[in-house]
Amino acid sequence: MSTTADNLACSCIYCNAPQNRLLYPTRDMYGNNFTVRQCRQCETVFLWPPPTPQQLEQAYSETYYGQQEHKFNSLVERVVDYFRSRRAKIIGRWVSPPGRVLDIGCGNGRFLHYMQGLGNYETYGIELPGKAAERAAQIKGLILKQGKLENGDFPENFFDAVTLFHVFEHLDQPRQTLQIINKIVKPGGIAYISLPNIDSLQSRWFKGKWLHLDPPRHLFFLGPKNLQHQMKQLGFELAAERYFNPEYNPFGMQQSLLNLFLNKRDVLFEHLKGHHNYTKEYSPLNLFLQNLFFKSTFPLFVLSDALESLFKKGATVEMVFRKK
Ligand SMILES: [Zn+2]
Repeated sequence: MSTTADNLACSCIYCNAPQNRLLYPTRDMYGNNFTVRQCRQCETVFLWPPPTPQQLEQAYSETYYGQQEHKFNSLVERVVDYFRSRRAKIIGRWVSPPGRVLDIGCGNGRFLHYMQGLGNYETYGIELPGKAAERAAQIKGLILKQGKLENGDFPENFFDAVTLFHVFEHLDQPRQTLQIINKIVKPGGIAYISLPNIDSLQSRWFKGKWLHLDPPRHLFFLGPKNLQHQMKQLGFELAAERYFNPEYNPFGMQQSLLNLFLNKRDVLFEHLKGHHNYTKEYSPLNLFLQNLFFKSTFPLFVLSDALESLFKKGATVEMVFRKK
């Protein structure tokens, strides 16, 4: 590919620098084509061109918290709920009550609901207007802002913990968001960020077909080292990191392997979410076999995740940063 064409007026979503290089192409669920590029200045990997408002609207409304009341069928929803309660316990270990916790991109608010159950926590959530936010608004004691985090939403040094569970990569102004977080977290408080690991083996192997690339919803990726560096600039120190994650990583491997062989991406994932309109061109037998592959090889991929994680190459990463 020509490098001059690669450098057409596109700038990094994180630092705004104009120099970047093409990594690989990718295609979203609806057949829209994008490229994945890396900033030469700050090493952020980003989707280009940026998805249009219509593309984002379609991607969020149909397959996230969309038409259905729940994102998944009830069994999967129960498993997801288990992981939400586990996340609350993890935050509870870092911040003992009483404390103030803000969850950015709080979805239906279930994590904050579990937080309340652990003790005297004041819970705050931010979520874009929609079905998920409507559900969060019904949780007693949860203070919800429908919209985006903005300067002046909260006083300085206000929170003991600010959490972003697989939300950071969705933000359209990531640098500004980290700067606001830096203001509103107390000295000694924590910022907890989990995100896909762009430096993972899965990312390198599957490139544009990697499940956790998730175009067009994931707009950019900071590698773990890069995020540490950015947080350090703001005055946060890394307190813990974890790469092993049975909730996200084994399935990432399984779905990405299937993506190599199928025309459409993420068919099994959409099938499990009950998105029948998306999977209707696949026969019941085909979907059954994909499901069988998922169930029968899951333990194998938990094991491979454990190995990858030893080298910090797991498909997702959770990082806890402490403000000095
Ligand atoms: Zn950059």
